[in-house]
Amino acid sequence: MTSRKRTQLPKLPPTPHGDDSPNKSDVFNASERSEIMRRVKSNRNKSTELRLIEEFKKRKIVGWRRNVRLFGHPDFVFPKLRVAVFVDGCFWHGHRCRNTVPKDHADYWRIKIERNQIRDRAATERLTALGYLVIRIWECEFKKANADLLEEKLRPLIEAACRPLEDCLTKEQISD
Ligand SMILES: [Zn+2]
Repeated sequence: MTSRKRTQLPKLPPTPHGDDSPNKSDVFNASERSEIMRRVKSNRNKSTELRLIEEFKKRKIVGWRRNVRLFGHPDFVFPKLRVAVFVDGCFWHGHRCRNTVPKDHADYWRIKIERNQIRDRAATERLTALGYLVIRIWECEFKKANADLLEEKLRPLIEAACRPLEDCLTKEQISD
C-alpha cells in the first residue's frame, strides 16, 4: 500500500471554510462523484449552524454574530466575550468518530483532510494568541448520545453569555 503512487491532487483555490468541493472534471466517475457531493452536502450545509443557533436559544445564550471577518472564519463570534465558535464536519475535519476514508482515492481524501486539520490548528492558535477562547464543536456532538459533550463545550457561553444566568441553568446546576 505504501508504495502506491499518491493520487494527484487537483489544484484548488483555498476556500474560507477549507471544505472546497473536489474537482469534478477529472479523476472521479459518476458514482464516486455523487458520493463526493453527498459528503460535501452533509458537511457544511447550513443546518449544522442552524442547529447550533437552536442550542444557543435553548440555553438563552445571546450576543453571537455570524460572518465576522476574523482569521479562520469562525462560524460564530461573541465579540464582547472574545469567543470564537467553529462547527466542524466530522469527515472533512478528520474527527476520529468517522476515521474511515473512502477506499478509492484514499490518499486524495487523506491529504485534503490533513490540509483542513492544519488550517484548523492554525486558526485556533492565531485566535487564541489574539485573546479569543476558541470552541470547536464537532458535527457529531449534536447527536443526542453526545449531549453531555456539547453541554460541556457550551459551558463557558452558558456561564458568560446568557442573561439572567439563573434562566440558563437547570435546578441541579444551581444547587451545585
Ligand atoms: Zn465526530
